[in-house]
Amino acid sequence: MVLISRFRRAAAFLEGLDASQRARVDSACLRIKKAQQAILLRGAAYLEHCGRVCRGLCCRNLKVDEIVSLYDFILVLASAPLSADLIAERARAAKGLQNADCVFLKDGSGPCLFPEDLKPERCIASFCFSTGLIRRELSCLRRSFTRLVVLVWWCRFQGWCFPAKVLMP
Ligand code: SF4
Ligand code: SF4
Repeated sequence: MVLISRFRRAAAFLEGLDASQRARVDSACLRIKKAQQAILLRGAAYLEHCGRVCRGLCCRNLKVDEIVSLYDFILVLASAPLSADLIAERARAAKGLQNADCVFLKDGSGPCLFPEDLKPERCIASFCFSTGLIRRELSCLRRSFTRLVVLVWWCRFQGWCFPAKVLMP
């Protein structure tokens, strides 16, 4: 319930924007996407380790509600709306609360249904080992997400278009 409600609030937020607001949000999302692409490029060896050696342990036995935020849904809805239906379907099926394999693993085993360069922040930015090679890229990613969060809240304080509950993470 938490995930699908978060997804709906992300959709409502985007629908409520006018063209200039939407352009700002798109620009913030594009920054995040570029930061993720830089991580994929420079951190290829790290990600290879996650995928091949560890086989994505991070996607298993977790509380998905604590991983995928409102801002992650805004990112994917704004940047890859074609993926949205499938993601919404899985969000609707999520039970929440208890630990389980992530609902966004395709057919329960993977790969992840989020586009490769539009992963939730915690999925792309959390490693269980030292990642010195991509320190700058990770900082850039965190700054880009912070920028999106601030922009979304700024929309609220501008009183542009949404009730406060739309923006609760
Ligand atoms: S970060 Fe660590 S635990 Fe997670 S998938 Fe990579 S190697 Fe596995
Ligand atoms: S959203 Fe994707 S990358 Fe993140 S935990 Fe779920 S399956 Fe893994």
